[in-house]
Amino acid sequence: MKGTILYGPRDIRFEERDEPQIIEPTDALLRLAATCVCGSDLWPYRGIDAPTQPTPMGHEYCGIVEEVGSAVKSVKKGQFVIGSFAFSDNTCPHCRHGYQTSCQHREVMAGAQASRLRVPLADGTLVATPDVPPADLVPSLLSLSDVMGTGWFAADAANVRSSCIAKRARVSSTLGISTGLIESSVTPIPASRHAPTGSPAISPQTASGRAASRAESTVDFIIRSTPGDAGR
Ligand SMILES: [Zn+2]
Repeated sequence: MKGTILYGPRDIRFEERDEPQIIEPTDALLRLAATCVCGSDLWPYRGIDAPTQPTPMGHEYCGIVEEVGSAVKSVKKGQFVIGSFAFSDNTCPHCRHGYQTSCQHREVMAGAQASRLRVPLADGTLVATPDVPPADLVPSLLSLSDVMGTGWFAADAANVRSSCIAKRARVSSTLGISTGLIESSVTPIPASRHAPTGSPAISPQTASGRAASRAESTVDFIIRSTPGDAGR
């Protein structure tokens, strides 16, 4: 199969890679419906935190389960799933307290910019949708892989509430390519559907904390003051 590999600053190649296989009984194999470029991909691309060896890229993904290991219980072949950018078992003390990205067995996904992907700790890392979604919904579901959760955490960490209610945190890639660098079976959504609606009353840059700093590169918040809104 083909996939992206970062060789060095501003040197990304789309080339042959080995097909992924089930290695651990907790693994799942996916055929990806959509994947994309994250803002955090741009740091090594620019030469900041550059890789020391050719490195497969991509950690935002969703797709169809093709195969699961013998210990996987919560997802099965044929389901559409969304995967987190960090693997988690969802059973350790950190996970049970809601910090799956600090799982004791955490690793960060890499190599999702390809047609197929091995996902370790599938039970804790993947979430299945009730049905296989229509193609035009897939890009939105893809945003749940990283940017929506990261953006939500940033807003929560920045204590965005009370008079300035986060009525809607609209996620979009600042690059405008969150519909997928590589799309095997998905039609990109029209550019007009990426366009921000309304004027931001607050931007991620004004929020504090490391999470907000991370969100700055990946999330575009639309946060409006909506007195009387019963939202969070
Ligand atoms: Zn855990």
